Amino acid sequence: MSTPNVIIVLCDDLGYGDLGCYGNEVIATPKLDALAAGGLRCTDFYASAAWCMPSRKGLMTGVHPYRGGMDNPGLLRSRTMLPEMLGRRGYASALIGKWHLGMEPGLHPLDQGFDYFYGTRGSNDPITVHGQRQNYETFRTARAESDWPVALLRNRDEIEHPARQSLFTRRYTEEAIRFIDKSQAEQKPFFLYLAHNMPHVPLFTAPPFAGKSRGGLYGDVVEELDWSMGEIVRCLDEQGLREDTLILFTSDNGPWCMFREFGGSAGPLRGEKGTGWEGGPRVPAIFSWPGRITPSVSDAFMVNVDLFATLAAMSGAEPPAYPLDSLDLSEVLFAGAASPRSSYLFFSSGHYREPFSYRAGDYKIHVRSNDMLRDPITGEDAPVTEHDPPLLYNLRQEVGERRELSETHPDLMRRLRDEFDAAAGMLGYEATAPYRKPATGSAPG
Ligand code: MG
Repeated sequence: MSTPNVIIVLCDDLGYGDLGCYGNEVIATPKLDALAAGGLRCTDFYASAAWCMPSRKGLMTGVHPYRGGMDNPGLLRSRTMLPEMLGRRGYASALIGKWHLGMEPGLHPLDQGFDYFYGTRGSNDPITVHGQRQNYETFRTARAESDWPVALLRNRDEIEHPARQSLFTRRYTEEAIRFIDKSQAEQKPFFLYLAHNMPHVPLFTAPPFAGKSRGGLYGDVVEELDWSMGEIVRCLDEQGLREDTLILFTSDNGPWCMFREFGGSAGPLRGEKGTGWEGGPRVPAIFSWPGRITPSVSDAFMVNVDLFATLAAMSGAEPPAYPLDSLDLSEVLFAGAASPRSSYLFFSSGHYREPFSYRAGDYKIHVRSNDMLRDPITGEDAPVTEHDPPLLYNLRQEVGERRELSETHPDLMRRLRDEFDAAAGMLGYEATAPYRKPATGSAPG
């Protein structure tokens, strides 16, 4: 078994339609387009959830983020996370950026296997210092970094509060390069988890990117993320590490379109972050490993939860003994094989507790749906619609989920409904229970 370096770049709320190589004609992303042209550009890659926290949980643990309850710190503490598993194979690990999986003893990044942490506890959108909630007006008017009381940490210490959000992307990139250089000097394989806070609202960028894109502030922010990827690839090239390094560039969930000019684009997909439509969990994903991954476009069905088993197999690391929901994608990535994944159960956010939709092969059903999480002006919960019979779509024929097929394919619809119930039951959910109003108010994303 080899122990290649692993870099996962996870953007926050970057949409399926936000990059040039995914069809965006306004935002310039030449570095990512080049990475995609020389690697595997995935069209059917999903975040394990349509929401920041659970998506990261699935990525780090290889377990469906809603298994055993979405909020279960005790259970999460007991999980083996990626850096801990890779650490046993001699990897040095760093989290640069957003964590969001808890800072209590046992959950802190340094307690979950990372050797170094530089970033934020969670999202960059707390209640502002003026007491404003996260709604459209707040993002439009609270434009000073000092309006947002977010702390920047190094390991266990707060080093800046409020953090200079406009410097997040640049500083994270510099920290990432320092970590690569250090690992190389120490002759250790490394796992770099670069979890950008951007382009999650509130958006900030600094010169030379501010005001430069044709896509407004959101475009500026994405163009800086593109620069960042270019800098990291350049560092790997200079160190002669490109052919020893697997890169995955992706997003934790779809775009937060409801915040208009401060949100991204889902491209041809319906829905957005916090929904069970494709725009919620389907995200851009580019794998790169020159010499090992053949440049191509892949429509293989993959979920970020699958990285865990894939990296275990690739590195020879021992996965934990408890059941995983993670499938080894090695043959898909390195040999162009069909995906071992045939189904996945989707939830809308951390806010609603019930499963919303389910993909099996080319088909997808929606047992309940929402068009957004909440009203972007008032903050009121957006309505959730129960569908009986469920809505049925063929994603291969029509990715936009507009042509509904339950009437013409009743047997298929019923079979998927049974599979939906079984998948929910496997995770500990009562799928057919009616939708319940959440007990608490809207959480930040
Ligand atoms: Mg997110």
